[in-house]
Amino acid sequence: MKSNLLNGGEFLLADAAGMEIFAPEEFTVEQKQIAETTEEFMKKEIFPNIDRIEDKDFAFIVEKMRQCAELGLFLAEVPEEYGGLELEKTTNMLMIEKVAPAASFCMAFSGHTGIGILPMVYYGTPDQKERYLGKLSSGEWFGAYALTEPGCGSDPLSSKTTATLTQDGRHYMLNGVKQFITNSSFADLFTVFAKIDGKHFSAFLVEKDFVGFTVGDEEKKMGLKGSSTTQLFLDHVLVPVENLLGEPGKGHKIAFNVLNVGRLKVATQSLGMGKAALAEAASYATERKQFGQPIGEFGAIKEKLADMTAASFASESVIYRVAGLLDGRIAQLDKSGSDYYERYQKAIEEHAAECAIAKVFCTEQLDMVVDEAVQIHGGYGYISEYAVERYYRDSRIQRIFEGTNEINRILIPTMLFRKADNNGSVLWDLVKQAREGAVTETAYAGEFVREGATIARLKQLFLTVLGATASAREQQEVLLAIADMVITIFALESTLLRADKTLSASSEAKQNLLKAVVKVIVFDLTGKCGLAASRCCAYVLKGTELSDMRRKISELSDCQIEGLLEAKQLLAEASKDAGKYYF
Ligand SMILES: Cc1cc2nc3c(=O)[nH]c(=O)nc-3n(C[C@H](O)[C@H](O)[C@H](O)COP(=O)(O)OP(=O)(O)OC[C@H]3O[C@@H](n4cnc5c(N)ncnc54)[C@H](O)[C@@H]3O)c2cc1C
Repeated sequence: MKSNLLNGGEFLLADAAGMEIFAPEEFTVEQKQIAETTEEFMKKEIFPNIDRIEDKDFAFIVEKMRQCAELGLFLAEVPEEYGGLELEKTTNMLMIEKVAPAASFCMAFSGHTGIGILPMVYYGTPDQKERYLGKLSSGEWFGAYALTEPGCGSDPLSSKTTATLTQDGRHYMLNGVKQFITNSSFADLFTVFAKIDGKHFSAFLVEKDFVGFTVGDEEKKMGLKGSSTTQLFLDHVLVPVENLLGEPGKGHKIAFNVLNVGRLKVATQSLGMGKAALAEAASYATERKQFGQPIGEFGAIKEKLADMTAASFASESVIYRVAGLLDGRIAQLDKSGSDYYERYQKAIEEHAAECAIAKVFCTEQLDMVVDEAVQIHGGYGYISEYAVERYYRDSRIQRIFEGTNEINRILIPTMLFRKADNNGSVLWDLVKQAREGAVTETAYAGEFVREGATIARLKQLFLTVLGATASAREQQEVLLAIADMVITIFALESTLLRADKTLSASSEAKQNLLKAVVKVIVFDLTGKCGLAASRCCAYVLKGTELSDMRRKISELSDCQIEGLLEAKQLLAEASKDAGKYYF
């Protein structure tokens, strides 16, 4: 296994020893300044006003969004020729992390700057950009993205919204209903998906004042209560032909390409919210006393704080590794030429599997983190006055939008298989070799040599299970189990590579914490990977074939971790001392 194959998904086939990743410890002064500006804005303008936001004071939200625009926070992904900054994805994620704890405001922010603006950036004609992009990036107007319908969510291509060219050829007439559209109550421009003649799925730029376009009532939601979510009704809406976005019949490209980075952003929102919940829990654990001592002194609470810290570290490692991969690809592109954004999309699409991995992993880590944050608060965690109550409610949607986690899980192996089938990837050769008993070699050395060997064995396990269950590749339950193996391997490897990269430049205290976090994550994710492998094999195999595989699984997912208790105690103390996420 060589490491020079790092196209999308090929981390599974390569030795971790040669891999380069971006680690959050490498942020430049400029990147940190942008993060600080965002954080200061949130601390001053948004966090003290959470109640107004949660009460759906949209006028207030719009006012604060305009302040964001004045600070240049909407410009991250806008092209330089339109006054934008074209920041790296790593910087962009860092900004989103800071906005994330105010999840309803974050929906307005990312709904506008992401799915609101980006379809136009990627697919807009110069005329469309001239007419709309300046208004959107300056905060004069706000954007929204309308794909979902009452009858179609995960399957957007089954859209029932229609677009019919009028006889004079000057307009498309749109009819249909859209569902769950973020920012509707104050958005001015909507990217609406509809089928031309009921057949050709396409995207249209619809202004809120177009006749026949109406915004429905606000949904009453479990969480994100301050975020605007409504239906949209399109009743014979005349949209000028100049407002067709992209090519007719190519709406799927717009719909799906925007989702790749969108998934990474949902992962990042989950990280930001999880870190905020951890901070609340760590502080509460030192303040609250029971049985004459702070609850944070109890092993049961320390274990939770340690697991929350390790989960956040792993999520952070995954997110910035993927963002770094995207930045690396984008940096290789020649910016001249009218097909720049087409090539840009292809570059991002190369890592679509990694974006989906980040989405699933980080949203599910968040589940654990907010759940334990509520638990640490006991009954108070159930009371709205405590921030963790909101984090708990706000977190739940993350597993549902930007493609449900089921859809993302299915996509991960499907994308890998498609690539292997189409591009003659070495995947199937390695699967064959693994089945014949070839042992995966690793050159991993240094402090984490044992953990490097664990990852190499898990990759071999992945290949072996893939070979043994190949006959059931079409079965969703099998695909989900394979996805779980892929996700855990990627997260484990990201954690290890980051810890290794930053170890030598860290203080002794931080080095000990890095070693502790690696221990906790290797123990947790190796176990999960082994379980996913067992589940996959138990679905497909029988008799001696199954028992042989069970032996192999136990051998390849074995990892001897010593000092796990001390490692968790160290992480818990660090989070209590810091009163927040330590790293
Ligand atoms: C607060 C909020 C904000 C939103 N914002 C927007 C927005 O701004 N714009 C927009 O267009 N949409 C938005 N959505 C919609 C969101 O993207 C959809 O809810 C999501 O895509 C899921 O679609 P659905 O709700 O129709 O669920 P369904 O697609 O009906 O899924 C129901 C269940 O079936 C599973 N399932 C479906 N298909 C398959 C399959 N092939 N294989 C296995 N399992 C499957 C799903 O994983 C899920 O568990 C928002 C939703 C909410 C709640």
